[in-house]
Formats: sequence, structure tokens, C-alpha cells
Amino acid sequence: MKTYRIAIVGIGKITEDQHLPVIAKNPRFELAALVSQRGIGRPGMPSFKTTEEMLAALPDVDAVSICTPPNVRHGITRTVLDAGRHALLEKPTTATTSELTDLITHAAATKRVIYTTWHSQYNAGVDTAKKLLKGKRLAKLHVEWKEDVRRWHPGQEWIWQAGGFGVFDPGINALSIVTRILPEPVFIADAKLLFPANRDTPIAADLRFKTAQGGNADLHAEFDWRQTGPQTWNITIATTDGQVLALTDGGSKLAVNGKPVVTEALAEYEAIYERFAHLLDHQENDIDAAPLQLVADAFLVGQRAVTDSFDW
Ligand code: NAP
Repeated sequence: MKTYRIAIVGIGKITEDQHLPVIAKNPRFELAALVSQRGIGRPGMPSFKTTEEMLAALPDVDAVSICTPPNVRHGITRTVLDAGRHALLEKPTTATTSELTDLITHAAATKRVIYTTWHSQYNAGVDTAKKLLKGKRLAKLHVEWKEDVRRWHPGQEWIWQAGGFGVFDPGINALSIVTRILPEPVFIADAKLLFPANRDTPIAADLRFKTAQGGNADLHAEFDWRQTGPQTWNITIATTDGQVLALTDGGSKLAVNGKPVVTEALAEYEAIYERFAHLLDHQENDIDAAPLQLVADAFLVGQRAVTDSFDW
């Protein structure tokens, strides 16, 4: 089995928390370089200020994990593909849907692999929920994704800048589960977006969904970044035949009609790198545009309201 030499671009929170430790324990990958604007490095590890410099200096790097904020991911991914290397994209894939469409076309043109990771999809309860929902009709969906922005994004100014997604940065994780498991596609019916007076992205959002069939299913999502104390990452789904699925703790736990079915510790990034090795072995893409599309649609149809200024 080939070991892939991999570089990481953007040495921020998620790289430190997940990508570096998970790559270190996966024998299918060997960390080859870091790319850090701030010059963050590791002893003995080549470190570069730009992706272009890294690619030019290290022609034997097979793949690159792009862990920057989303607004620069399109350009960096194109640079990686043009240099003949494969790309793993952190979520959210790109700042806009047309950038993602371009990357899909460009990956095909360059015959390189791109993998749009959505880490929440790799929670243990998600696949089981998808199987249980197959062929059913939705009666109710309630997504509650409420967390403390100061705890999970300390000091990150990019999340408040246009293109930084605001509360949709975590909210898109919930949508990545919803779009993966629901038995029928949902569309944004209406959205209320709450912006701090001094910021360009929302701190809370309330979404109502509809299905192509219409009907009176109650389909609702609440995202809020102002929750202190216990954090809430729950999705409850009721089907017309009376089944109630409760995905809690971000999708790592699943109960059906109140009875626990899946209870597992989070191992999202371990599964992501196993999947990436599989995709590289088979030269296959894994591209999921649905979560980004729903967020874009929420911004397209959303009503804007203004709330208190936000400061760290
Ligand atoms: P972060 O701590 O702000 O790190 C992002 C890093 O990207 C920065 O530290 C910087 O690293 C680099 N960077 C920033 N601006 C750049 C630019 N204009 N061009 C090139 N590189 C730039 O953010 P994060 O929390 O790690 O999030 C990064 C991505 O991972 C986001 O898309 C986020 O949604 C996703 N994610 C985050 C979490 C989480 O818990 N925080 C969880 C899952 C996924 P250098 O100075 O080293 O270049």
C-alpha cells in the first residue's frame, strides 16, 4: 500500500486540533511540509510561506490538505491541482457555489482528486440514521445547533467578515448531516438571519425548509452562536409512520423512539483520512455540494435583522 506524502496549508485551530495528530497516526500518510503565512513550523519539518513555494520545492508531495478560511480555498485548490497534486478541502468547501463548480470542472480537467470533507458526516450515528430513513416520508425535522462562538472560534476575525459564514460555519455542519441522511431533498423556504450591528455575518439564523412534494411537514433549523454553558448539536427527525430519530452530540449518538441505537466517541478526522487514502488509491473524487448550496440559498432568500454588537 502506497504511503502518500501530504502537506497542510493553514496551521490554525483545526490543523493543530485534528489534521496534524490524525495524519501522524495514519500509516497511509507521511507529513511532508507545512504552509503557513505566519511561518509556523515543526522541528525538522519543511515550512513555506506560500503554497506555490512548497509545490515548487517539493515535487514528491502527492496531496495537500487545505485548512485555511474558506475565502481563499478556491485559489489555493486550483494552484494545487495545476501542480498535479490532489486536494483535501476543509469545510466549508469554498466561499461561493460558483467557485466550487469551477473546482469540480478543474479537477476533472487536471485528472486530480478533490475531496470535499464535511467532518460531521463521519459521526457514527449518521450512516445508521440514513439507512433507517430510506424510503420514509418526513413529518418533522428540528435542528438545534447552538454553541458559544468565543469557545470554538476564539479571536477568529475572518468568521465575522463577508464570506466568513458567521453562524453558518458550524450550521453548515448540521446541514451536511441533514443533506446526507434525509430521504428526500429539502429546500430553503424562508430564513431569518440575525447580524450583530458591527459585523458582516450572522450570529444566529432560523431556517424553514420545504420539500418538492409540498405537504405540511414541519421542517425547521435554529443556529445560534450565543449559547454559553452546555452546547447543543441535535437533530430530531419524525417520519410519517411514527418513527422518531434523535441524533445528539453532533451525530455521534442516535436514539430511535427514545431507545439508544448508536453511542460512540467522535472519530471524524480519523475516518476522513481513511476515506482520503481510499480516494487516492482509486483516483476517485468525493464532492458534496449540497450543504454549501443550502447556505447560499439561505443568504439568497433570508430576511436580515440586526442585534447587539459583538466583541470578543
Ligand atoms: P483558524 O484557526 O483561523 O486557522 C486558519 C489558518 O489559515 C490561519 O491560522 C492561517 O494559518 C491560515 N490563513 C488565514 N488566512 C489565510 C489566507 N488569507 N491565506 C492563506 N492562509 C490563511 O481557523 P480554523 O478554526 O482552523 O478553521 C479553518 C477551516 O477549518 C475553516 O474553514 C473552518 O470552518 C474549518 N473547521 C474548523 C473547526 C474548528 O473547530 N475550529 C472544525 C472543523 C473545521 P497560517 O498563518 O499558518 O497560514
